[in-house]
Amino acid sequence: MEICVLGSGSSGNCMYVAGGGTRILIDAGLGIRETTARLAQLNVPLETIQGVLFTHDHADHCLRVDAWRRRHATPFYANEATAASIEQNVQKTDFAWNIFENGSPFLIGQLRVEPFSVPHDAADAVGFVIAEGGVRLGIATDLGMATILIRRKLAECDALILETNHDVEMLQRSERPWAVIQRIRGRQGHLSNEDAAELLASVLSPRLRTVFLAHLSAACNSPVLAERAVRAVLQQANREDIQLVHTSPDTISARIEIPAP
Ligand SMILES: [Zn+2]
Ligand SMILES: [Zn+2]
Repeated sequence: MEICVLGSGSSGNCMYVAGGGTRILIDAGLGIRETTARLAQLNVPLETIQGVLFTHDHADHCLRVDAWRRRHATPFYANEATAASIEQNVQKTDFAWNIFENGSPFLIGQLRVEPFSVPHDAADAVGFVIAEGGVRLGIATDLGMATILIRRKLAECDALILETNHDVEMLQRSERPWAVIQRIRGRQGHLSNEDAAELLASVLSPRLRTVFLAHLSAACNSPVLAERAVRAVLQQANREDIQLVHTSPDTISARIEIPAP
């Protein structure tokens, strides 16, 4: 399986996953022009993408999808509530959605996709486990807390794309309104570096090899702080072999190949 985070953060999210000849994107928060340009850096034409899967309906995950739809017939996948909310936001009602149900796995080409519920203040946010050829990738990027269901889904994965959204101290000291700080820290908000580290510690399995640190707040976090928090738990667990991959809103991440076992 091949994984590249094309962009991640509050200004736009899009992840590229390929396996067994099937290529998909998770979220479309960069807009079609920027997505096309970043895919070109991987030598992947947009026309070869077999589906865009939406985690939820926040603008940083579904920017201008009406413009996308006008130019390309890429199949869109979402659950009912997310699809309805995205259509409402762009005032469109004629997208041909592929509707999935949380908890019900489905296939896109060779990729097996399993959506699961995550607590986040959106219509009906999900994370995904994507599997192909014995390799499993877990994705959880906008969530206020790690439920038992989430821990169960992210265990036994070979790679994770995990939110390390904010440093709690930086968030508290930020000039954001109190209500916004409470929203971010709340059970339907975002995981702090420490929250993510704790979640990671609880899902460490011998097969886990790679962790992408995703959805960092530009104002209230830094790659150094996120990595420090995660490294601390990996050190404690004697798992310094796990590769940490940084992501950014502005540039694509390293392109990681996870070989089949
Ligand atoms: Zn987001
Ligand atoms: Zn969100």
